[in-house]
Amino acid sequence: MKKLYWLLFLALLPALAGPALAQKKLKVVTTLPDLKSITEFVGGDRVEVFSIAAGYQNPHFVDPKPSYILKLSRADMYVTVGLDLAIGWEPPLLNSARNDKILKGAPGYVDASVNVPLLQVPTSVSREQGDIHIYGNPHYWLDPDNGKIIAQNIFDGLVRLQPESRAYFEENLRRFNERIDAKIAEWEARMRPYRGTKIIAYHNQWPYFARRFGLEIVDFLEPKPGIPPTPSQLAKVIRIMQTQGIKVIIISPYYKPDAAELVTRKVGGEVVTLASSVGAFKEVKDYFDLFDYNVDRLVEAFRSTAP
Ligand SMILES: [Zn+2]
Repeated sequence: MKKLYWLLFLALLPALAGPALAQKKLKVVTTLPDLKSITEFVGGDRVEVFSIAAGYQNPHFVDPKPSYILKLSRADMYVTVGLDLAIGWEPPLLNSARNDKILKGAPGYVDASVNVPLLQVPTSVSREQGDIHIYGNPHYWLDPDNGKIIAQNIFDGLVRLQPESRAYFEENLRRFNERIDAKIAEWEARMRPYRGTKIIAYHNQWPYFARRFGLEIVDFLEPKPGIPPTPSQLAKVIRIMQTQGIKVIIISPYYKPDAAELVTRKVGGEVVTLASSVGAFKEVKDYFDLFDYNVDRLVEAFRSTAP
């Protein structure tokens, strides 16, 4: 008799576990690894995510490869930073992939910037003098609080494509938001002693990060976003750092440190290479690591350069 129950149980098992096990994994392609990481937190084991750009690459300039087109042609969902961040490489890849399911307006298209309060939105759209941030600053994922808005946009997309998994995605989203809130409190506490610290950045990609943690970015090594440092710009930055006692220049791993090092040698400061995306360094494995890493590096730098 016991054996019969056991057999019955085994026979029923697939039906009991059915809805979860039988769920087809949604194939998601993201432009950036930060969006990949957040999609994995919300989508859990019901998504398979590929990021086109790697975290150590400049997200404005990615070489389109045939393998990306293949991934896009097979994707159920596409998550993009939006604005003009990937204007140089996103449209050609999407055109070549010919996948109607992930084009703008389709259920599988997710613009992660929806509802993000943008900074530095210009009053007129112009690429004058090579500016590559014409719709407002596109580096919004660098404020962890915006991570929750991104997660909501991704959640909405996942539910559109797989409504039967809503409760599962909802629980993942709730857990992600809870963890972000707890970590923000921790990161803010660690950065609190340095509120108001003035710094210089290579590229204008940290306004969201700086606002969150109370840093003041006074100038950039690039004279315009996307235009490499010029001797006259570097001379101007040296003057500013000397007169205002600024000691720290933040750069990203894909910029050559030469110009920043030249400047800090003159003023006795420090170049700090931050992670501008998940995967920038091997220890930056997910969206939480990104801020752990950057807060660690900055706290170290502010301590070592304190007067
Ligand atoms: Zn940029």
